[in-house]
Amino acid sequence: MQRKIRLLIVEDEEAIRTGLMDVFVYHGYDVDCAADGPVGLDKALSGRFDLVLLDVMLPGMDGFEICNRIRAQDRDQPVIMLTAKGTDEDIIQGLSLGADDYVAKPFSVAQLVLRVQAVLRRSGIGAELEATLRLGQDVEIDCRNLVGQRNNEALSFTRREVELLQYLQMNSQRPVPRDELLAKVWGYARNLDIETRTVDIHIAKLRRKIEPDPAQPRYLVTVRGAGYRLLAE
Ligand code: CA
Repeated sequence: MQRKIRLLIVEDEEAIRTGLMDVFVYHGYDVDCAADGPVGLDKALSGRFDLVLLDVMLPGMDGFEICNRIRAQDRDQPVIMLTAKGTDEDIIQGLSLGADDYVAKPFSVAQLVLRVQAVLRRSGIGAELEATLRLGQDVEIDCRNLVGQRNNEALSFTRREVELLQYLQMNSQRPVPRDELLAKVWGYARNLDIETRTVDIHIAKLRRKIEPDPAQPRYLVTVRGAGYRLLAE
């Protein structure tokens, strides 16, 4: 059995910190946390963590400084920065200090989980856990490289298509409504008719790639009045 992915959450707002802990524990991660800058820096520098989720505004030492010091010690430590500020300058500063990704608050938790998985994949951490998505006997998708095959026919995917499939897979026990997909996969705060069609267009494209008969979907099914559901078998 594979070891758990070790995640450090550095966040001073208790509600966000405990909320994130719950979500990542639920997703099978081994989670530790810190509520201020100095403790966060200490833990991050221990080198025990596969990924650090790092808030920017922290008591004692801000997230940019912590990221800077992590980088000075370990260039390859995956770091995702969280911030409420969300201005372009912050994004540029965060990325120039070497954060692997940047998520602006308020963020959707599902989107954050996908970003964490994406950064871990790019870092080659836990690759076996998430890299391959199989549908029935005939479809195999390499989520990291955005390629796949169906009956030995090569397929290619966009990042969004793979994130859509992964979100449906994470929630495969139920149909997922279009507006939830827009919120969690696309990050849209509200849905307009034109945006709902965006989901349908992506689903149609995916069906042409993965379904033996796109007109009679077997894997990516419509649940009338409820949304879309992924059936892996
Ligand atoms: Ca904060």
